[in-house]
Parts: sequence; C-alpha cells; structure tokens
Amino acid sequence: MRPYLFSFKIGGVVVRAEPSWLFLALLVGWSLAVGFFPDQNAALGTSTYVFMAILGVFGLTFSIIAHELAHTFVGRALGMPINRVTLFMFGGAAELEEEPKSPMIELVMALAGPLMSLFLALVFSQLAMLDLAGGPQAPLAMVLAYLGLINLLLGLFNMLPAFPLDGGRVLRALIWLLGGDRRKATRWASLAGEGFAVFFILAGIYVLISTGSLAGLWWVLIGFFLRGAAKSSRVELETRLALGDIAAIDLVTPDIETADAGMTVADFIAEKLVRHHRDWFAVTDGERLVGRAGLAEAQAVPLEARATTRLSAIAIKPGVNDILPARAGADRAFAQMQKHHLLRVYLLDGERFAGTLSMVDLLEYARLRNLFADARLG
Ligand SMILES: [Zn+2]
Repeated sequence: MRPYLFSFKIGGVVVRAEPSWLFLALLVGWSLAVGFFPDQNAALGTSTYVFMAILGVFGLTFSIIAHELAHTFVGRALGMPINRVTLFMFGGAAELEEEPKSPMIELVMALAGPLMSLFLALVFSQLAMLDLAGGPQAPLAMVLAYLGLINLLLGLFNMLPAFPLDGGRVLRALIWLLGGDRRKATRWASLAGEGFAVFFILAGIYVLISTGSLAGLWWVLIGFFLRGAAKSSRVELETRLALGDIAAIDLVTPDIETADAGMTVADFIAEKLVRHHRDWFAVTDGERLVGRAGLAEAQAVPLEARATTRLSAIAIKPGVNDILPARAGADRAFAQMQKHHLLRVYLLDGERFAGTLSMVDLLEYARLRNLFADARLG
C-alpha cells in the first residue's frame, strides 16, 4: 500500500492526499509567508505571516477538495461510479472508473467543479469584506481575500479547453454532442490539451530565463504534467473504446496451458516450467480453477519435498478481483485490471475455468484495433 498524508471518507467517497501534495502545500505556504502576504501589508510580524500562510494552505486544500467533490457527487447523481478523490502535486482528481456514457453527463460533470470554485470565490471574497474580518489590512481578511482569488483562478484555469482539464472535457463533450463521434472528440480535445501544454512549457522557459523567477519552472512542470496526462488519457480512452464491443473470452490466447492440481511440484518444474518457458500456469482440478503457480512458488518448496508435494498445496488462490465471467465485456476486464493493478484475470464460465486474459493481450488488441480504425478514417 502507498502511504497517504491523510485519508477520510465523506458520503461514501474516499478523500486522500498523496505524499507529493506536501510539496505543493509547502511551496504555496512558503510563497504566501515570504511574498504574497508581506507584499500587501508589511507591518505584520513573521509569526503572523506564518500563521496566515498555514490558514491559507488549509483553505486551499479545502477548496480543491470541494472542487473535486462537486465533480464526484454530480457524477454519482448521474450514475457515474466515482469513489475516490486524490490530491497530489498538481492539484486534485476525482477518479472516474469508467468513461461517461453520454456527452451530456460528461458536460454537466465537468462543469460542476469550476462552478464550485467560482461559487467559493464569491463566498470567500464576500466573507473578506465583512466587518468581522477586521478590514482589508487585517490578517483574517487578507487570508479570506487570498482564498477568494485562488478559487477564482482555480475555476478559470480549469476551464481552459485543454483535455484532461475540465474545460477540455467540456470541449470534448461539445464536439461529441455536435458530431456524435466520441473518438474524434477525444482526439481534438487532447490535441488542444497537448497544444496548451507545449505553450505552458515554452512560456515557463521564457519566464525562467527573462526574470529568473522560479514560477517559470513551475509552469514548465505543469506543462509536462499536462502533456503526459493528455496523451495517457487519450490512449486510455481509445483502449476502452476499442474494447467496448468485444467479450473478454474472445481475447483469450487459446493455447495457454494449464497445470493439473494433482501433479507433483517436481513434475510441474520438469514438464511445465522448464519445457514451456512460462513464468506461471493456471492450476486446475478437472474444469475447476484452483489458482496459479509459477517459478517462485515451486522454488519455495524444499528440494527433497518436491516429489511428494502436490501443486494444489502451493497454488495461489484467486482473489475476488482476479476472476471475471467469461462473457463480460473486454472493457470491464481492462477496468478491473487497471483498478487493481493486475496483469491478468481468470475467466469463469459458471464454475468452469474458461481461460486466462492478460493485460498484454488486451493492450495489443486495442492498439491494432485503433491502428485499423485510423487507417479507415484516413
Ligand atoms: Zn475539475
């Protein structure tokens, strides 16, 4: 398990922060304490600036979580399975487990986050003006005004039409809505995303060279992140689309051998592992799947016990995420493997073992399928 800085549950949704979030929090906190707040009011003490910066970082964390939860709960209301929000170095993400089924769902869900940010911008800037906040030069009012500004920027930045930013999803939904072709819509929106990413990188380099400001470096990093995200979103979506109309069982390599649960480990090594150059085999008892066994499991059995130990004794039993009905869609198999970081799933036809589906087979099929689709589109 990866360590998280914090993790809590709200309305059935897990909210958690990756360690890289700390980097963003420290960077923002530091720039608030030594730059942003002292620039506005130089008359306060160091400990006051530090305290204001800490409040600012907590407020920013709250704002980003609110933005992502807006996507999440609107998505869930529209039938999208979203169970996790994760904060990381460049902000936050509501984790979609499958792609929206219609452009309207995508459009509404994508707009929910920026609208929440703009709403928070309004709330924080109004709070900053209350008498309770102590006037524009008071510490509390300055923090609230900062949170109003940062939410405005969050709302506007995310509306840039650069997939996978929210605005890019809006763009994709609109092209999809107008043209009816999700693949083409994804292509255009992610091209726009990659274009913006290159612009950020170049602008960042320019700022870095001309002013020496480290903010330039930040833009370069964001540009590279966005470029990678645009590309991987496109590849992932194209893969899911390519797998959308085929059953998992149809992608199973038919000549993958199984090993019988009753055979000894010594026979397994000699007849299966050595002869077939494969790392592992599905272990079956008649037609029933017992588990899998490979080199590591066989080696763990002491030499003198290998002739008497049965394969059934060392086979690793499949977990609930390792198995799937044989007639399930290949896109479902892909999603399950991705979610649980699996390299293969076992397909069952009722109780009967029907075959092993590997990630490599899925990706290779999707790649060829997309290649073929491109060739036809010209
Ligand atoms: Zn968003």
